[in-house]
Amino acid sequence: MAAPKKLLTPDEVAALNDEFRDTEGDESEEGRRQHARARSKLRRLSHLESCSVCQREIELRGSCDVQVDVPLDSCKKPFAINGKEYFGSITVYSCIAATLLYMIDQNRQGMLRDTQGTDHTPVFMGQLHERARQVQDT
Ligand SMILES: [Zn+2]
Repeated sequence: MAAPKKLLTPDEVAALNDEFRDTEGDESEEGRRQHARARSKLRRLSHLESCSVCQREIELRGSCDVQVDVPLDSCKKPFAINGKEYFGSITVYSCIAATLLYMIDQNRQGMLRDTQGTDHTPVFMGQLHERARQVQDT
């Protein structure tokens, strides 16, 4: 088994980003080699090396794992971030948890709005009339 990879510090990651930017467009052989090396290192960064949200969590409480209970959304579908679905009692990175909780909150507020006024039709018809009038005016 390979030894665990040593994580880069935020400063080292920043230096790598600088190197990547500075060598951008450098057509010398050395420049191209540096650029390619910085790019491949950046690609292999782990989540914890590149995510400032999780880095701060680790600083504050020694871990960036958070347990969340994710319900289904108002359409009875799982919440998804970048195509990955999240549902049930799960442990995720802090940044993912924050995004999920925000989405759940927004979804709940949307549901509340939907259940508060049941009289949607007049508003909608009003918009239609407005649209129709604009079309006639032009
Ligand atoms: Zn993160």
